[in-house]
Amino acid sequence: MKPPSARSRRHPFDAEQLLREAGLKATSPRIALLRALHAAARPLSAAALHASVGGDADVVTLYRNLEVFAAQGLARRIEGREGHALYECVDDTHTHHHHVTCTVCGRMEDVELCVPPRVLEEVSKKARFAEIQDHVIELYGICAACQASLTKIRP
Ligand SMILES: [Zn+2]
Ligand SMILES: [Zn+2]
Ligand SMILES: [Zn+2]
Ligand SMILES: [Zn+2]
Repeated sequence: MKPPSARSRRHPFDAEQLLREAGLKATSPRIALLRALHAAARPLSAAALHASVGGDADVVTLYRNLEVFAAQGLARRIEGREGHALYECVDDTHTHHHHVTCTVCGRMEDVELCVPPRVLEEVSKKARFAEIQDHVIELYGICAACQASLTKIRP
């Protein structure tokens, strides 16, 4: 068992209880998968989750469980830049946040920042909306690792 991440230490997290509350059988592969999702600092692919849960986990079952989690609101499915799906935990310990994706390697990071409320007020004024209830913002850039290797290639 891996040590809990800084994020999961912040709040008590009971994978077994969350599964039961979602009406799912709390099998040990599901508990391990939900824990791995919760501990991750960024959205992960099924392959990356498979690696973090452990090699003896069945990848087909893991993929199916991710889809079940997404359907039951335990996880969010995000379309990665290369067309493969990424998954992240959804529970009340994770606040509203955004993602920034590297256009070179496709790595996606959580960004715990949001649009200032003033901007949302201006948007509702401009669009003549009573209120803005929700938003999705996709951010793209070049990660530090890709920037470093790009600089190396250039003469
Ligand atoms: Zn979580
Ligand atoms: Zn990159
Ligand atoms: Zn996220
Ligand atoms: Zn936001």
